[in-house]
Amino acid sequence: MSSINFDQVTKIYPDGTHVIDGLDLDVGDGELLVLVGPSGCGKSTVLRMLAGLEESSGGEIRIGGQVVNHLPPQRRNLSMVFQNYALYPHLTVRGNLEFPLEMKGLSRTEIDRRVRETAAMLDLDAFLDRRPKALSGGQRQRVAMGRAIAREADAFLMDEPLSNLDARLRVQIRTEIAALQSRLGVTTIYVTHDQVEAMTLGQRVAVMRGGKLQQVAPPWEIYQRPANSFVAGFIGTPGMNLVRARLDSSDGAPCVLSGDYRQALSVETLAHQPGLADRTGEELLVGIRPEAIGLAEAGATNALTATVRTAESLGHETLLHLDSSLTTVAADAPRQAPHGEPPALIAALRGHHPSRPGDAVHLQLDPGDLYFFTLDGEAIR
Ligand code: ADP
Repeated sequence: MSSINFDQVTKIYPDGTHVIDGLDLDVGDGELLVLVGPSGCGKSTVLRMLAGLEESSGGEIRIGGQVVNHLPPQRRNLSMVFQNYALYPHLTVRGNLEFPLEMKGLSRTEIDRRVRETAAMLDLDAFLDRRPKALSGGQRQRVAMGRAIAREADAFLMDEPLSNLDARLRVQIRTEIAALQSRLGVTTIYVTHDQVEAMTLGQRVAVMRGGKLQQVAPPWEIYQRPANSFVAGFIGTPGMNLVRARLDSSDGAPCVLSGDYRQALSVETLAHQPGLADRTGEELLVGIRPEAIGLAEAGATNALTATVRTAESLGHETLLHLDSSLTTVAADAPRQAPHGEPPALIAALRGHHPSRPGDAVHLQLDPGDLYFFTLDGEAIR
């Protein structure tokens, strides 16, 4: 078991592409940290540098306090689990579990013990004599996990290990991985582009974008206190709506104005965001979670009138994609004028709401559930 540290780590490919930019990241001994971000943001590169499969261009990587930059992969004592499980097709499950242990030169007794314990832990006993092609996707995934566990490495590195599984199995194995990791207490870095996986699995979540770390925090904090509009838009299903607005208090009561809509700010909001008061008169971004938008009660004054673009009924909730007078902007490029239509305002209403494109709806926002960012997307605390 070991802590892992990245200290100002960079990666520049020979063609000059800057992929990782001054990465500082500390993973605690026994911690499960999920590295999440859109495809191409550099997650796998981080993992591959840690494993020694890719050389870093600068900075220091430490495992258990020891600098490993110049150690070959086999001397880093890490176990990797990939998206394609890379099982040996001609070996049985037992053979697949044994092979890396034989390569390490372990004794027969020790190999037998580890295979026995791993198989029991992962319910693989009944499959030990089967070849991978005679296993289901979920079973293959478990063998890949088993191979990593049997090595008794200092840390697990998992790169999108569930991507090849169907949605239901992904949820099941995700839970199994979390339980197993906490039982084994092995430091784990888990890479995914799937924010739901990140939120449900990670003790802490590190959000990356374009080779830069955006925020590292426990899942609830990432959700409740996103560091910037990119994180706010990336986390959540669907992500946060972002609206360009002006902070106004000309009639004494602080409010935000966007289009012809006016939203009074609650005393709690102002107390929690002391930085806001200084920005009266300024333009800023207001973040509104889809679940913070509800239907206005009959006769409510100051309801937001919107028109349905599309409606998606999921059974337990209905997602309305709406046009309104609010100036919506893209969470990952708030300053950029949208090409074509501005992003829809998305409302997640509980239950089933029969709505059709073109229907008018009257909405209200939860004033206690608004987020504030500068026009460049930095959170205003
Ligand atoms: P992720 O795992 O987040 O999808 P990767 O770490 O695989 O992202 O890749 C990050 C970026 O590095 C991508 O833009 C990719 O095109 C680029 N990249 C990967 N390998 C090379 C290489 N050998 N040469 C140049 N660029 C590369």
